[in-house]
Amino acid sequence: MSRRPIIAGNWKMHNNRKASAELVCGIKEAIEGIDKDALPEVVVAPVFTSLDVVSQNICNCGCGRIQLAAQNCYFEEKGAFTGEVSIDMIKDFDAKFIIIGHSERRQIFGESDEMINKKAKAIIASGLTPIICCGETLEQRELGVTDSHIASQIVKALEGVAPADVANVVIAYEPIWAIGTGKTCDSAEANRVIKGIRTTLSQIAGKENADKVRILYGGSVKPETIKEQMAQSDIDGALVGGASLKVDSFVEIIKGAM
Ligand code: PEP
Repeated sequence: MSRRPIIAGNWKMHNNRKASAELVCGIKEAIEGIDKDALPEVVVAPVFTSLDVVSQNICNCGCGRIQLAAQNCYFEEKGAFTGEVSIDMIKDFDAKFIIIGHSERRQIFGESDEMINKKAKAIIASGLTPIICCGETLEQRELGVTDSHIASQIVKALEGVAPADVANVVIAYEPIWAIGTGKTCDSAEANRVIKGIRTTLSQIAGKENADKVRILYGGSVKPETIKEQMAQSDIDGALVGGASLKVDSFVEIIKGAM
């Protein structure tokens, strides 16, 4: 089963409009000479306030080499939800993906599995693609509960999603102890956990659908780690934080996934 790789940059709460425009233009220029079919699907996720400027720069190039993602959304269509942004509002910028369930959202902002499930269902209903993050803490890893914890996060995130729709979601396995720490999870171990995620997906949606799901690894991905990660049987790309904030390192990661 061949799955098109994804290299997604999560810019987190970095970059104002000017810095966002410079970063996306730098990436665009660096990859515009590369055959589109040889590239992985390149995705950037700026802060909400930069979605418009990044969208304009992606569209202006007309090359279709970069896709836009939001880092979060709310599941309700509109209403008295101060500070939140709806999926339709994100769609205005021609975004294709929305990241949900990032460990920073779960840990700092208290997002529950139930909320992530509501977001997943609303994103799918809108025609966009959720990038659903999951991952264990160091404590859970040391207690030996990584696999059961991840399986539970996946089952809860996808509760009530039709099997055919499961095939189109993207999952990002991000061990929390590897995010922003410089400690990358051993590639073979990341692949083992990701295979487990695929088994869980098979149980939920059948093998044929599970085989279509792109599952990314995230956690201190760097230019030096990407080739070994991409060489694994079940790792279909990367969700990149720190190394996506510089044109050179992000482009090296993109090229490492080709
Ligand atoms: C992330 O934010 O999803 C992430 C993986 O960050 P980093 O690459 O910096 O560890």
